[in-house]
Amino acid sequence: MGRYGATKTFRFCYGHRIPGHDGPCCDLHGHNARVEIVCSDDLDELGMVVDFGKITETVGRWIDEHWDHQMILWARDPLVDVLKEAKQPVFAMEQRPTAENMAAHLYRVSERAGLPVVAVRFWETDHNLATYEEE
Ligand SMILES: [Zn+2]
Repeated sequence: MGRYGATKTFRFCYGHRIPGHDGPCCDLHGHNARVEIVCSDDLDELGMVVDFGKITETVGRWIDEHWDHQMILWARDPLVDVLKEAKQPVFAMEQRPTAENMAAHLYRVSERAGLPVVAVRFWETDHNLATYEEE
C-alpha cells in the first residue's frame, strides 16, 4: 500500500540573532527562507490529502502576519523590548529562533490549523535545511 503526501512551499524574509552563538549568528542578520509544510493522509472523497489552498489560508497567512519581514527573537533577548519601544515589528519566541526551533513552531501552527502535517522542512538558506517531524 502506498502513502500519499502533499507539500506546500512558502518563502518569506526575516531577521534574527542567536544569543550565545559563538560566531556571526550572534549578531542581527537576515534570511530569505523557504519552508515546506509536508502533509500525509488517506485521500478524501475528492482524491486529495489536503487542499493546497487550505495550507495557504492557514499556515501561509500565519507566516505573512507573524514572521514575514519581522525580527524573530528569543523572548529573553533584551532587544525585544528595545525594538518594541522603537515600534519595530518583532516576534518573540520561547526558544532561540534557530531554523530548527522555527520548523517546530510551524509544525505546531500547522497542527492547530487542523492540517495532517507530518514534517516541516525549513530552508534557512539554499544550503542549510532544518527539519522537524513527529512519529
Ligand atoms: Zn541566521
